[in-house]
Parts: sequence; C-alpha cells; structure tokens
Amino acid sequence: MKEFNYTIIGGGCAGLSLAYELNLHKKLDNKTLAIIEPRDEYKRDKTWSFWKVIHHNFDDCVKKNWKNFTINSPSEITHLKCDDFPYQSIDSGLFYDKINKELKKNKNIYFFKDIKDINTKNSFIFNSIPSANSNDNNLWQHFCGVEIQTKNNIFDDTIINLMDFNCDQKSSVHFFYTLPFEKNKALIETTWLSPMKDSSIMDYDNQIKNYIEQNLKIKNYKIIFKEQGAIPLFYPLNKDEKNKINIGTAGGMTRLSTGYTFLNIQEHSKYIRKNFDNIRDLNKFKIQNKYRFLDEIFLKVLKNNPEKMPKIFCDMFKVPAKTVIKFLSNKSNFFEDLSIIFKMPKSTFIKALFK
Ligand SMILES: Cc1cc2nc3c(=O)[nH]c(=O)nc-3n(C[C@H](O)[C@H](O)[C@H](O)COP(=O)(O)OP(=O)(O)OC[C@H]3O[C@@H](n4cnc5c(N)ncnc54)[C@H](O)[C@@H]3O)c2cc1C
Repeated sequence: MKEFNYTIIGGGCAGLSLAYELNLHKKLDNKTLAIIEPRDEYKRDKTWSFWKVIHHNFDDCVKKNWKNFTINSPSEITHLKCDDFPYQSIDSGLFYDKINKELKKNKNIYFFKDIKDINTKNSFIFNSIPSANSNDNNLWQHFCGVEIQTKNNIFDDTIINLMDFNCDQKSSVHFFYTLPFEKNKALIETTWLSPMKDSSIMDYDNQIKNYIEQNLKIKNYKIIFKEQGAIPLFYPLNKDEKNKINIGTAGGMTRLSTGYTFLNIQEHSKYIRKNFDNIRDLNKFKIQNKYRFLDEIFLKVLKNNPEKMPKIFCDMFKVPAKTVIKFLSNKSNFFEDLSIIFKMPKSTFIKALFK
C-alpha cells in the first residue's frame, strides 16, 4: 500500500482549510499528502458565519457581509454596529469547490475514501475526527436552519438578527437567528443550548414554521436550503501524539460559549503552515486558557440558570459592540475582559465558580 509524508483524516472544514493553506504556501511541492474523506460528493451543507476579526483565505466564498446586528429579548431590542469587524457568512458549497479545484492541480495530493486504503505507518497525521466524550450532562448547541425565498422583498438585508429570545424556552436556552442574504432570501435558524435529552425541543420544522409565520409574519415563501447540526460545547477526548495533531472540532477549535469554530480553524491552519518544517516538535495550538476558564463558568451558569440567559446575553452586549466581538472571537485584552465580566450578575457567576 502506498505511503505518504502527511495524511489528513477528514476532508471537511479543518482538513480542507489546512490542505489549502499548505498548498498555497508551497509546502507540498516536494512532499506527498493523502486526504481521507468518505463522502461521495461535496455540496453546500453548512453556512459558516463569524465576525471577521482576522484575514482568511475565503473572501471569495462569502455570501454576504453585514455591519449591523440586533439582539432581541422579550423586553427590548438592542441595535449594534460592527463596522470594524463585519459579520460574514461563508457558503460551504463555494468553499469546497474552490479548495478541491485547487488541490486537484497538485500531483502530490491524493484523495481516498478510507484510511485502510493507505499505509499510515510513517505518515504524519492531521486528524479531524473527534473522539466522543459525551455524557448526559454535556451541553450542545443544536440547531436547524432553512434558507427561504419570499415572493416579495421583505427583509432589510443590511442587518442581521443574532439572537431573538421571543420564543418558548422550555427550561433550556432557545433563540432564533436570522441572516438576510437578500431582500427576499434569508437563513432562519432555531438554536438551542441544551444537553439534547428532551426530544420535545427537536421538532425544529414546526418551530421554524411558527416563527416565520407568526413572529416574522411571512406567509408566502419557499424553502431553498436546509441545514441541521449539533456543536459539542465540551472538548473531545482526542490527544495530540508524537506524529499526530488534531485539528478542527477534534483539535478543540470550538469556542465553547459560542460554538464559533471556523476562524479558529483558519488560525490553526496558519500556525501549522508557519511551523511546518518543525512539525514534530510543535507546541499545541490552543484557544487561550483565560477563554477556556471563563467559558467553563459561563456554561455552568447557563446550565443552572437557563431562565436568566436572555438577560445575560443582552447585558453582555451593553458594552461597546467592538469589545464583545473581540471577547467572543478570542481577541480581547485584559481590560476588555473585565468590562464584560462586570456586566454579568455577580452572585450567579460567583456561585458557579465555586460549584
Ligand atoms: C450545520 C453546522 C453549521 C455550523 N455553523 C457554524 C458557524 O456559523 N460558524 C462557526 O464558526 N462554526 C460553525 N459550525 C461549527 C464548525 O465550524 C463546523 O462544525 C466545522 O465544519 C468543523 O470542521 P471540522 O473539520 O472539525 O469538521 P467537519 O467539517 O465536519 O469535517 C469532518 C470531515 O470528516 C469526515 N469523516 C467522517 N468520518 C470519517 C472517517 N471515519 N474517516 C475520514 N473522514 C471522516 C466527514 O465526512 C467530514 O467531511 C457549524 C457546524 C454545523 C454542523
């Protein structure tokens, strides 16, 4: 069986981002790479969104940028601006196409469906398959979204609704998320933060239909795309080994308080590329410890006080939007962290700290 210098297990977001970054910077001109990916065909399956706080390789896959967003609680609507860090959505279909076209031009890159098809004994492995670490108490961000097309132009496509808490919370945390791509097209998602034990909260189609028809008052529309997923809000068991680095969700690239992963994957890919010649002695790339610590407390509060979360999220956005965005995107300084911590209900967070 054929051997390769490097093997990427999983040609999804992290595997392909890394291969693209290595290929772009000519790290694979004299080395071979195998990418193991079981899927038969790539098509749009996700929409990756985030505040653009760093440069990335995929500006040409962006569906839309926005510079305004709102957070809605039952008692108030908070309008915020994000001129410095626009909110972006990447179409995964465009992302897969762009990368695969480019990678296929390099004769040193090979694609396989199964790891058993190659000999990995002497290969350096980049693994993006998470080892399950789930127990009944772990929280997930689970969601379903549909992109709808309406007959008339009804959306304001200059502003997104990041969180709308005007919906049934059912002892969990629940909000809707609306990204208007055009005046007559928007992605509308129902999002839950819960241990996924209560099946009654997973009738996503009904929730979305009711929200579109009753909250947004839209009657005439058709569904043109659907996505569904569950992001673990806990770290996987994967450990880096001598000849193996975990990437993507498996590599702990998800920010646990938000589920945002895409830009962390891009930063990790750049880190690996910059240190590629020294890959066997590389220090682990991690989301900074201060965020891991603060997110752990935040998730404890969320688990123990779901009813308080709409207000907590709204209060968080009472500091300048730029500060919150930097905090949620792992780019804040000590003083910015403090300004957010001071907005949180002190006794609730202190209790969580000592539990
Ligand atoms: C629907 C959805 C929407 C999301 N939206 C956002 C967002 O808006 N913003 C954000 O920052 N994050 C988002 N995330 C979280 C995160 O960015 C994505 O999950 C991202 O795809 C993680 O990349 P990954 O490479 O770790 O996993 P994946 O992209 O899932 O890639 C893993 C790959 O491994 C392949 N595979 C599976 N089993 C094997 C096997 N045995 N051998 C080899 N390959 C295998 C799979 O087919 C897949 O292609 C979203 C997640 C989901 C599910």
